[in-house]
Amino acid sequence: MSYYVTTPIYYVNAEPHLGHAYTTIAADILARHMRQRGEDVFFLTGTDEHGEPVAQAAERLGVGPRELADKNSERFRDLVQRINATNDFFIRTSDPEHEAKVQEVVQKIHDNGYVFEGTYEGYYCPRCADFKTDAELVDGNKCAIHLIELEREKEDNWFFQLSAFQEPLEKLYADNPQWVTPESRYNEALSFIKQGLNDISLSRARLRWGVPVPWDESQVIYVWIDALLNYYTALSYARPGEDLTDRYWPARHLIGKDILKFHAVIWPAMLMAAGIEVPKSIFIHGYLLMDEHKMSKSLGNVIDPFEVMDRFGTDTLRYYIFREVRFGNDGSISAAGFEERYNSELANEYGNLASRSLAMIGRYRDGVVPDATPAELDELRGLPGRVSERLDAVDLTGALEEIWEAVRRLNRYVQDEEPWKLAKDEANAQRIDQILYSLAEGLRSVSVLLSAYMPDTADRLLQALGQPDLGLDSAEYGARPGGAQVGDLAPLFPRIETAAA
Ligand SMILES: [Zn+2]
Repeated sequence: MSYYVTTPIYYVNAEPHLGHAYTTIAADILARHMRQRGEDVFFLTGTDEHGEPVAQAAERLGVGPRELADKNSERFRDLVQRINATNDFFIRTSDPEHEAKVQEVVQKIHDNGYVFEGTYEGYYCPRCADFKTDAELVDGNKCAIHLIELEREKEDNWFFQLSAFQEPLEKLYADNPQWVTPESRYNEALSFIKQGLNDISLSRARLRWGVPVPWDESQVIYVWIDALLNYYTALSYARPGEDLTDRYWPARHLIGKDILKFHAVIWPAMLMAAGIEVPKSIFIHGYLLMDEHKMSKSLGNVIDPFEVMDRFGTDTLRYYIFREVRFGNDGSISAAGFEERYNSELANEYGNLASRSLAMIGRYRDGVVPDATPAELDELRGLPGRVSERLDAVDLTGALEEIWEAVRRLNRYVQDEEPWKLAKDEANAQRIDQILYSLAEGLRSVSVLLSAYMPDTADRLLQALGQPDLGLDSAEYGARPGGAQVGDLAPLFPRIETAAA
């Protein structure tokens, strides 16, 4: 089975921020998990580079748009590395291979009869060098960015006959209730379609920084059409000399709620018009809001994701944002919330459990995991299956909750059994064997499952347990016999030193 997951491509003029990291980490968690299941995974991210804002910014700086795009695209590549994403390719819409493929698909839409010549009329901002939609106007007819009065202007350009796909789109939604999730977003997209679709511009006449319309080189393809096609074009050239389209298409998209209409309405219509299969699914997540009222002793009152990664490691951010806010909903994150979960969950519940267990295996069994029957711990039984099921539904927070229930069960288990008391009497040897084996197996199982979220941490612990295999088929608690030699483990999550004296 193949599994093709994408993030939106990020506009190069933006500063890389937590929102970009959020979607990319989510896609990475899914990609890593699916690889652990033995799926044939392809994970795509990249940058959106055409359009007037880039051309104008370049002009102000006295450089060419290409040069500016090169420089800015690099910042997103850095971000992807910094959050430890395992993308298989990084697409740039200024790649010549992408541009050629965009022309090919747009030509197909044209040849299939869904393109016509028309006149675009609207308020035009000469400083933005772009037409404004009503939503982009303030105080009647002023540019929301430049606050200058705009004139209505006309431009002859090419149109895509979106209205022809009213019925096919309604049918797509009716036949595939899981096509867009969560359900509230499905309903939102469908009601937009049911209001009636208007045809949209497919090209711009005034812009130069873009992909030329193949049958009319005086115009460039509208930047959104160019950008959406990245998901499809990337497969044709991501691996030199190979076309991966048949192997991986259609894609599963992860997007933020602000770009729902483009992805859930215009994009499938474009693909239908070109005779290409529509995406497998679209998952829409909410926003991470910063709660600046909850002070933390070590981080102050504003949580800076880059500072968190620098000081506490990338894994802690990858864990916190999916633990704190249910993926799919809007929710608040805060410096205090981070510190609380770091100390109580990561350092205490998981980190301590790991160091205690390894220390006891060292002290009572010379560092070799004994062989025994695993203790009955319901939260551990069948855990890999439950986590997989949640991740199949893109429930990243739910999967993490399942794993954490198991971590907490292991903590209760060791507290209830008190092996340090039992160890005083040789008669308890068999019981000690079972406790130590159950702890080692429990830690192994949760760590294999956590490795999609916290790859470095899980790797360190699994190495220390002498069980580095990440395959999900042997992740079940009790699936491995004893006998492994355990190693040393430095604290996984050193306690936060508070800055205040
Ligand atoms: Zn403007």
